[in-house]
Amino acid sequence: MLASQLYSPTLREMPADAEMMSHKLMLRAGMIRKVGNGLYTYLPLARRVIRKIEAIIHEEMVAIGAQEVMMPIVQPAEIWQASGRWDVYGKEMFRLQDRHQREYCLGPTHEELVTTLVHMDVSSYKQMPLTLYQIQNKYRDEVRPRFGLMRSREFIMKDAYSFDVSQEGLDVQYQAMYDAYSRIFSRCGLSFRPVEADSGAIGGSGSHEFMAFAEAGEAAVVRCHTCTYAANLEAAVPQTQQVPNADDGEVGPAEKVATPNAKTIEAVASFLQLPVEQTIKAVVFAAGETVIVAMVRGDADVNDVQVGKQYGLVDLEMADQAALERVGLVAGYISPLGLAQSDNLKFVVDESVMQMRDAVCGANEEGMHYRHVVPQRDFQNVDVAVIRLITEQDACPHCGGTLDFVRGIEVGQVFKLGTKYSEALGATYLNENGKSAPMVMGCYGIGVSRTMAAAIEQNFDENGIVWPCALAPYQAVIVPVNVKDDELMRAAQSLYDQFTACGVETVLDDRNERAGIKFKDADLIGYPLRITVGKTFVNGGTVEIKVRRDGTVSEMPIADVPAFVMQWIREN
Ligand SMILES: [Zn+2]
Repeated sequence: MLASQLYSPTLREMPADAEMMSHKLMLRAGMIRKVGNGLYTYLPLARRVIRKIEAIIHEEMVAIGAQEVMMPIVQPAEIWQASGRWDVYGKEMFRLQDRHQREYCLGPTHEELVTTLVHMDVSSYKQMPLTLYQIQNKYRDEVRPRFGLMRSREFIMKDAYSFDVSQEGLDVQYQAMYDAYSRIFSRCGLSFRPVEADSGAIGGSGSHEFMAFAEAGEAAVVRCHTCTYAANLEAAVPQTQQVPNADDGEVGPAEKVATPNAKTIEAVASFLQLPVEQTIKAVVFAAGETVIVAMVRGDADVNDVQVGKQYGLVDLEMADQAALERVGLVAGYISPLGLAQSDNLKFVVDESVMQMRDAVCGANEEGMHYRHVVPQRDFQNVDVAVIRLITEQDACPHCGGTLDFVRGIEVGQVFKLGTKYSEALGATYLNENGKSAPMVMGCYGIGVSRTMAAAIEQNFDENGIVWPCALAPYQAVIVPVNVKDDELMRAAQSLYDQFTACGVETVLDDRNERAGIKFKDADLIGYPLRITVGKTFVNGGTVEIKVRRDGTVSEMPIADVPAFVMQWIREN
């Protein structure tokens, strides 16, 4: 490719509205352009990177026997209503109507569609296991699309679905996919780890997320120093320390005390001169008509995913004033004391709260709290679960070892769905005994466009992108320092022809620009190798080869260059 013809409009300045480095660099390197909020056009360089990721995925999917299909992006509402997710999915789903006022959505995922498909054609145990996959655009109407391709409203996904006759069969498929994902991300040059995840909106049992570690990552991951345990923060269930009943002195009855203007935990603790660990914090969520009060110890935070799980809900929203008033709660002074659980009002209390012996909590009355609360004694009819967020001070839930938090970008996820969708959509088969049974499913996703962004987050410096060789849009750029010098241009052209003949993906920078500008663009776009044809060629027939990743420069006779480059690419 000639740089004079390559559509990669590079920018000198950092785009002001971009927050993440991958977003900034893709805009600057002329890889993407914004079309609308969370919507991007992939220019040729980005498209080439995507193609490379896709090629790796195709190879690894074929290797485990998965077959490629292409399902429609526009999906009828009926199948989503049948699975019960038409309502559950909420505002993130792009919905539309056709001319006959029939309802559709733009697929955020394809469980419903693929299950309906397989249901029509697969009826015997002999036709399974079956794994189908596709690479396609997906849609999610994000509240706040941001970070470029990291959280866009249209994005490229690889999604795969496995169908089996048993849980054991699913386990085998799951493991094959898990291993394939590990190979895919290794081949893409990412630093990553599979972490235990929450199955969230998709439902089902076991799940792992593949996290690419990056400081700018949106996901908080907790990992153990001792064992291989790693989990999405919200999927981690901390151990509740069993408090010995040492001081078993009777605690007097709960007593109402005035705590004027003490609406926060800190204010209450300070007013009553108690440590925050002795207070009980309430966070109130709303889901439709239901108001959920989640209660944790004053020094802990609420894990809203675990709260939602308790009631089979996703995407909980913080309750507003109107919702509180509707069920008789007083903001800042929330309490389960004197209020009964009902269909519209739930109290879920963290396990560690139930072990508190002499606590402070709200009194559902402006300016009032209760002290000497013994939750075990005083909280009637509440749900108890582990709903607090794990902290770095917690012990590893698996081995008791030390934990730390790291940031990650979720680039892939594997789920054991089980029979949730096959049952809802009637996807059954006849087993060996001629009995009907629901298919056992797994689903598996890779964020293809996000993988490209994650690769940049892990590989950049102050000059631009440093592509892993496997993903680079082109492997080499040849820079003749002066295009008006015929001798230089002939040499550069000859190298370019040889590279191309050997299958090295190369850009010849034939633009009539200063060498400095060409070098800057080469660094920004991140070609792994830069070959400069300049002064040393005129003086001694040598050219300069610079490796983008470590900046090493070597000089060699031009005749040796093709062999060197071929060798280098093989090794990288
Ligand atoms: Zn551990």
